[in-house]
Amino acid sequence: MKIIIFIGIQGSGKGTQAKIVSEKLNLAHISTGDLLRNASGQLKKQVDFYMQKGELISDDLMLKILKQRMQEKDCKKGIILDGFPRNLEQAFALDKEFLVTKVIEIKISDSEALKRLSGRVNCERCKASYNLLTAPQPKQKGICDICGGKLIQREDDNESAIKKRIQTYHKQTEPILKFYQNKLVTIDGKKEIEKVNEEIISVLKE
Ligand code: AMP
Repeated sequence: MKIIIFIGIQGSGKGTQAKIVSEKLNLAHISTGDLLRNASGQLKKQVDFYMQKGELISDDLMLKILKQRMQEKDCKKGIILDGFPRNLEQAFALDKEFLVTKVIEIKISDSEALKRLSGRVNCERCKASYNLLTAPQPKQKGICDICGGKLIQREDDNESAIKKRIQTYHKQTEPILKFYQNKLVTIDGKKEIEKVNEEIISVLKE
């Protein structure tokens, strides 16, 4: 199974890119953040506590949820992992059972990340992303261009959770780049969405 990992600080555009690239290359897109946000019942209670603070949920729980998702039929064609692994333990656990094909790092500065996250909104219905401070901006205030759904801010896109998530990225996630150094390609995430996308596609078609 082809496994491509997208890594980047929150706001780098990795979710946006993972969505576009998965559609273009016919791969399944697994965002662990979305998996957790869509949790229900007891599991939701368990994960919400950490997510709202901007902290990672436990590796065991994350792995269990992810492996279940990876067994679904659409994953046979290959996967883009967006938001996993987030620390070395998760990278080791993945490595034990699966062969990672390529790792794409989308790089932006902390100040750019802060700015982007503060303006980020998503469509409640189709999950399309917009940014009120940068781009893309919706044509009509508060309304999704694609499906007309309401645009909302994520609960963890508040200032204290954003700062915590940026800190967690540097401390826990960045060290895994070294672990993947032979498979790693770094892309400048400051460029326009289309340009970043072109670069990723050309790397993955190599
Ligand atoms: P994201 O949408 O990728 O920014 O993730 C939102 C939140 O979900 C994170 O701040 C964590 O609380 C949780 N989360 C997502 N992916 C993981 C992971 N691989 N391991 C642990 N927690 C995660």
